Amino acid sequence: MLAGLGRWLRVAGYDTAIAERGCPDRDLVAQACREERILLTRDRRLVEIRRARDRTLVLAADGIDTCAAELSRRLTLDWTRSPLSRCTLCNTKLQVADRRMQARLPPGVGQSGAPVTVCPTCGRLYWEGSHVR
Ligand SMILES: [Zn+2]
Repeated sequence: MLAGLGRWLRVAGYDTAIAERGCPDRDLVAQACREERILLTRDRRLVEIRRARDRTLVLAADGIDTCAAELSRRLTLDWTRSPLSRCTLCNTKLQVADRRMQARLPPGVGQSGAPVTVCPTCGRLYWEGSHVR
């Protein structure tokens, strides 16, 4: 339900698990408890599950921007905490890419001298482009 917001939390550097589509609510609550995560949802019924109340934050907003603003108001979030330090696809912490890996970059990319990073799990490369600003 909030996968887009989850990817933005990863962009900001927050350790964020994104639920698989169709994952049962009880499994989500169990994962949140086991991994000591805050479960973000827009589904008010989820807090009816035993053990969910202490781990769940029900967002009232309905768009990514408004959910991000609501989250910032309700939690102490710093969206510039550690930008581009996690893979947006799989949540793994990024590492500096070596020269061999940087050879996979499209032509003209990565010439700025800014570090190019790679996800050690899925192999995705990250570099600073105009989107960072
Ligand atoms: Zn990855």
